[in-house]
Amino acid sequence: MNIILLGPPGAGKGTQAHFLVEDRGMIQLSTGDMLREAKDSGTEMGKKVAEVMARGDLVTDDIVIGLIREKLEGENASGFIFDGFPRTLAQADALDTLLSETGETLDAVIEMRVDDEALVSRITARSTCGGCGEVYNDITKPWPEDGKCANCGSTDIKRRADDNEESLRQRLMEYYKKTSPLIGYYYAKGKLRSVDGLGEIDEVKAAIADALA
Ligand code: ADP
Ligand code: ZN
Repeated sequence: MNIILLGPPGAGKGTQAHFLVEDRGMIQLSTGDMLREAKDSGTEMGKKVAEVMARGDLVTDDIVIGLIREKLEGENASGFIFDGFPRTLAQADALDTLLSETGETLDAVIEMRVDDEALVSRITARSTCGGCGEVYNDITKPWPEDGKCANCGSTDIKRRADDNEESLRQRLMEYYKKTSPLIGYYYAKGKLRSVDGLGEIDEVKAAIADALA
C-alpha cells in the first residue's frame, strides 16, 4: 500500500507517519527531512535549499522530484508513505510517472484538516529532541523540568529555523497557492480521504486507520 499524507504545515503528518512506520512497517519518505539532511551535509545543493526553506518558500520541483526518484529506486519494498510530497501539481504528475515505472500504484491520499489558528500555535511552540526526534510543545507537552528528554535523556532541544511566525505565514501561503489544489485533484481521482487533524494524537491515528481500512 502506498499513501500520501497531505495537509498544511503543522497538521501532524510526521507524527502520524511515525505510527504507520511502527505499526505497519511502511517506509516514510519525507521530502522535508531529506532537504534538512541535504542542508546539514553542507553540499552546494544543501546551501541553496537552506535559504529557501528558512524563508518558507517551496524548493524547486526538480530538486524534490530527484530526491524522491533516488529513494524509490533504492528501495524495493512496497508500502511508502509520502510525507510532504507532492506539494505541487507538477510533483503529483511526476509521482504518477515514477510509480507506474516501478509497477506501483497509489492507494490513498489522506488529507489532514486543521484550522489555521491551531497551526500557528502548534508550530510556534514546537521543538524536537535532537537525540530521538520526539516532538515537544511549549504549552501542551513541555520539556521535563530537568531539561532532559523523557524518551532518551538527551538535552539537545532543537527548533527549526522556519518555525517562526513570519516563515510560517509564508509556508501557509505556499500551501494554499500551490499545494491545496491537490485536494481537488486527488478527489477527482477517487483517492482522497479526509480526516480531522484537530483531535488528540490517538484519535487522529484511529481516524487514519479507519480511512485506510
Ligand atoms: P512542514 O510540513 O512542517 O512545513 P516539511 O518538513 O515537510 O515541513 O518541509 C519544510 C520545508 O521544506 C518546506 O517549507 C519547503 O521549503 C521544503 N519542502 C519540503 N518538501 C517539499 C516539496 N515536496 N516541494 C518543495 N519544497 C519542499
Ligand atoms: Zn529524545
